[in-house]
Amino acid sequence: MLQDAYGRTIRDLRISVTDRCNYRCFYCKPVHSQKLTYRAGIMTYEEIIRLANVFVHLGVNKLRITGGEPTIRRELPFLLKELASIPGVDDLAMTTNAHFLAKQAQMLKDTGLHRLTVSLDSLRQDRFKEVTGVDGLKKVLHGIEVAQQVGFDPIKINVVVIRDVNDDELLDFAHYARETGNIVRFIEFMPLDADKQWDHKRVVTQAEMLQRLQEIETLEPINRSYTSETANKFRFADGKGEIGIIASVSAMFCGQCSRMRLTADGKLRPCLFSEKEYDILSVMRAGCSDEELIDKIAEITKLKEAGHRINDPNYTYPEQSMSSIGG
Ligand code: SAM
Repeated sequence: MLQDAYGRTIRDLRISVTDRCNYRCFYCKPVHSQKLTYRAGIMTYEEIIRLANVFVHLGVNKLRITGGEPTIRRELPFLLKELASIPGVDDLAMTTNAHFLAKQAQMLKDTGLHRLTVSLDSLRQDRFKEVTGVDGLKKVLHGIEVAQQVGFDPIKINVVVIRDVNDDELLDFAHYARETGNIVRFIEFMPLDADKQWDHKRVVTQAEMLQRLQEIETLEPINRSYTSETANKFRFADGKGEIGIIASVSAMFCGQCSRMRLTADGKLRPCLFSEKEYDILSVMRAGCSDEELIDKIAEITKLKEAGHRINDPNYTYPEQSMSSIGG
């Protein structure tokens, strides 16, 4: 079993398969282009599969594929199929902007992928374009519908709530959850934006969101499915619609964290907010054995921070934005 220095067991590995993205979300991608990794520096599928097997051997049972935008990496179904067939993987999920989902949904379902999370910050066409840089709302909504039809049901819809950007859409998104059966998860805006526009004042806290959402109907808490689940879950009292809130800023949940992250260029990050990451790909390319790899991963896991320090006055941003860390 993989345990950190604080006794937390690692069960969940997030794997970024690319640092490239077809969207330019203002809070995720820098306005001025960030250094992208050349193809040779990106983990091959064989390397990802080897690492995934080692992590599963060490007790990880949940894998999430992310990026950048994972669906733009070539031959992704090959990777998903291989990961889904590793004995011990109970949950294989992927986060996507859904731009290509209508075309790819069936193919993704056929790989054995269990779950999909879609990022969607506005239900208004103009605003969607302003946030992402792409006029893609119709495509995304259609992609979500097709994915539901092929059996990804429900889909989790991640909405990063930013004051004065999209917080006036909280109720619209709650209605969307009630109408479609998808689970909308509101994420507090985190200081990971490449252009450092984050400010406490732009964070809409869980408490405020809950207060505003009760305008529709009373919300009742739902128990977590497992202890390290990131979202606080609620259902409307009339039985229509589930929402989640990921309160990373106002109610941090680091004490229950069970995650490690692997960047597309093969760096292991113990935490989203880690200031340090560890080059596991070079260790592999130098020809290490699986035993050596296990020792290295165990050593890095011991360096996992107790928690993030967003709320410290001396907080410093990680070097990269979410698009290159892997969200
Ligand atoms: N391209 C995929 C997508 O759009 O879902 C996967 C990668 S994206 C980096 C993963 C998630 O990170 C998205 O839901 C995005 O909204 C979220 N994210 C990025 N920057 C963030 C920030 N500063 N605060 C909160 N969430 C953020």
